[in-house]
Amino acid sequence: MGERILILGGTKEAAELAALLVSEKHDVTTSLAGRTKEPKPVKGKTRIGGFGGADGLAKWIAENEIDRLIDATHPFAENISQNARLAARKTGVKFEARQRPAWAIQSDDNWELVANLETAMQVIPKNARVLLALGSQHIKPFADRQDVHFVIRMIDPPAEYLPFKSYTELFQRPSPEWQVEAEMLKEHNITHIVCRNSGGRGAYAKIEAARNLGLPVIMIERLTP
Ligand code: NAP
Repeated sequence: MGERILILGGTKEAAELAALLVSEKHDVTTSLAGRTKEPKPVKGKTRIGGFGGADGLAKWIAENEIDRLIDATHPFAENISQNARLAARKTGVKFEARQRPAWAIQSDDNWELVANLETAMQVIPKNARVLLALGSQHIKPFADRQDVHFVIRMIDPPAEYLPFKSYTELFQRPSPEWQVEAEMLKEHNITHIVCRNSGGRGAYAKIEAARNLGLPVIMIERLTP
C-alpha cells in the first residue's frame, strides 16, 4: 500500500518528485508557501500557506497521519528546512531532505562569488545595467545603488513599492532555453547578472547565456554548500 507523503515544495524538482510518487500510487500532498499567485499545477494534492512554525508543521503531520516527509524546497529557503528537521524529530516521521546541488563554475564562466545580497549590491560596478534574478522579496537592498539601472525579473508584481531610481520590471518566468535568455540580456543591454547559486535546471539558462555572451555573473553562494 502507498505511503502518505508530505512534500515541502515550491521547486520544479519537488513537482517532478510529486508526479513520480503519485505514479507509484502514494498519497502525496505538496505544500507551497503561497508566494506565487498562480503556481504551476502539481500532481497529487496541494496545500498552500505556512504551518505556523515547526510546531504547526508537526501538528499538521500528526493530524494528517503522514508517513514520510520530504523537504524539496529551494536551497535558499532556510526557515522551512529548519522547521522540517525539527518537526521530523518531534513526530518521528520518516524524513529526507533533497537539496539540489549547486551549479559548478565552468572554465568559460566569469563569476564573482559573494556571500550575501549586501555584498552583491556593493560589488556592482558603477553605472552597470544589471539583471536582478532574485525573487521580489530579495531585491530591496539594491535600491541603494542609484547609479545602476536594474532589470528586475519577477513572476508576480511585487507586494510593495520598489524604491529604485532607474529600473525596468520584467514579469516572466525564466526560459529554459539559453538562446531566449541571451536575447533578453541583449535587448536590455545587460552588463552584469546578479543571482544566487540555486542549482537545478529551471534557472540555469541565464548562466549558460551569460557564458555565451561573456557576461559577468555576481553569484551569491549558499550558506551551506
Ligand atoms: P523560508 O524563508 O524558508 O520560509 C519562510 C516561511 O514560509 C516558513 O517559516 C513557512 O511558514 C513558510 N513556508 C516556506 N516554504 C513553505 C512551504 N513549501 N510550504 C508551506 N509553508 C512554507 O522560505 P522562502 O525563502 O520564503 O521560500 C518559500 C517557498 O518558495 C519555498 O517553498 C521555496 O521552495 C520556494 N522558493 C523559494 C525561493 C527562494 O529564493 N527562497 C525560490 C523559488 C522557490 P511557517 O513557519 O508559518 O510554516
